[in-house]
Amino acid sequence: MSLSGPRSRVTLAAGLACVAFFAVCAIAMVGAQGSRVAGRPPAEHAKAVKRLLIHNAMVIYGNAKPAFGPMDILVEDGLIGRIAPAGALAVDVDAVIDATGKYVMPGMVNTHMHWHDERAGVAQPIQYARNLYLAAGVTTTRELGGSFDKSKRWQAESAANTIVAPRMQVYWTVNRGSGTAEAIRANVREAKARGADGLKIFGMDRDQLEVLMDEAKAQGLKTTTHIAVEEVTARDFVELGVDSIEHFYGVADAALDGIQAFPPDHNASNEVHRFARAGELYAQANPDKLRQVIDLMVARGVSWSPTLSIYEASRDAIRAQNLPWFRDYLHPALERFFAPSLENHGSYFIGWTNTQEVRWRQNYRVWMDALRDFGVQGGRITTGDDAGYIYSVYGFGLVRELELQEEAGFHPLEVIRHATANGAALLGLGDRLGRVRQGFAADLLVVNGNPLENLRVLNPAGADVNVNGRNVRGGGVEWTVKAGIPYHGPTLMREVKEMVAKDRASARAKTTAGE
Ligand SMILES: [Zn+2]
Repeated sequence: MSLSGPRSRVTLAAGLACVAFFAVCAIAMVGAQGSRVAGRPPAEHAKAVKRLLIHNAMVIYGNAKPAFGPMDILVEDGLIGRIAPAGALAVDVDAVIDATGKYVMPGMVNTHMHWHDERAGVAQPIQYARNLYLAAGVTTTRELGGSFDKSKRWQAESAANTIVAPRMQVYWTVNRGSGTAEAIRANVREAKARGADGLKIFGMDRDQLEVLMDEAKAQGLKTTTHIAVEEVTARDFVELGVDSIEHFYGVADAALDGIQAFPPDHNASNEVHRFARAGELYAQANPDKLRQVIDLMVARGVSWSPTLSIYEASRDAIRAQNLPWFRDYLHPALERFFAPSLENHGSYFIGWTNTQEVRWRQNYRVWMDALRDFGVQGGRITTGDDAGYIYSVYGFGLVRELELQEEAGFHPLEVIRHATANGAALLGLGDRLGRVRQGFAADLLVVNGNPLENLRVLNPAGADVNVNGRNVRGGGVEWTVKAGIPYHGPTLMREVKEMVAKDRASARAKTTAGE
């Protein structure tokens, strides 16, 4: 199939004219080729139709091959039915999204997240995080620890499309109980019986981990780990066959000569101590050993969900504390949770110093190089935001994760593959999710602008765009299609803004009433 040059130039020109923030681009690109499109009703927010046509889109497939277009994508019964050059499909449709000047890419998979309906004991509507994730282009989530039964219920409701939310996988945090082999095996069997999609492993000694991994294999459960500073490192997990590794800790821990050089007063239960020292970890790793650990991870097919964005405040606290979208979109429960305090996990910014930030920047450089090394050798990298902690707001954190993976040295096409096809593969759904491909789930984003030019256009609050030398507000995901149902980004964000305004007002009223 060849693409006519003139048409693609016209499309790009139209794209430049279509950057007004969330504006409906009514440019008559449809023209003569769009006779089947003209007269068809436009898609409506959260309204399922049998046949939805996404018309005239530049397509990013999700497997890192270059964008291609303009194309029409026919969505039928929740699946991608056909993909063809714009105007070439001779079918009748029930609704149309005009993607002229826009890019279409697969919905994103957030491989490390938590569903929160409260923060620090203050209620936070669950729809807040659901809307934010959808508006940021997240159509699938993997929850690594939460309120298990509630999340299983939400998972079923999302699968039935009776709630407005991404697809969900729900992992079970293994509880070692008394720590005996039998207690650990019993807990893994309970996870299986209650329908866990996998296990999140945390805080096990080597002998316990051996038992756990043996039982997980017997039960056919996937495994992932947040490796703390503990007896085991990434090497133990990789040898025992873990599917994925979260964050960064255990990888560099496996490359130390001996153990990390903690000062005598180091108290691992104090998060100010813990996070300050975590920022010194990669500088202490032996580079040769680090390379060997990375090689081993690649050789054993272990995936890495690095969650670069969740620690970013450690390297630049003032940036993290003053993000422009806090003004309209930061829920008061989250705002209270983020405030420096030893009570709330990840709120360790008590007297945070420039020296600590400098060390963290060094930590990031070595960590990013290790991640790049892992990816270049064929290791599977995914994207997770772990938001709801450390100034990271749901969805915004995932987009920032993409930006930081570009900083680590990956081409935006590769970064998008990490966020789409790789995430789906890690979840065992790589044969039906995470790509723009016929027969795959119709989880698609219609983006205002070109994410390959600027990943920031995926930010749910939009991005700055240069139009003929003028800075205008553009970007944003115009439509997030999940299982064929179109959700309108600006509508989702307007609802978030309303939730935040309402809950701020009631928090103020409580304060005034002296509660
Ligand atoms: Zn987490």
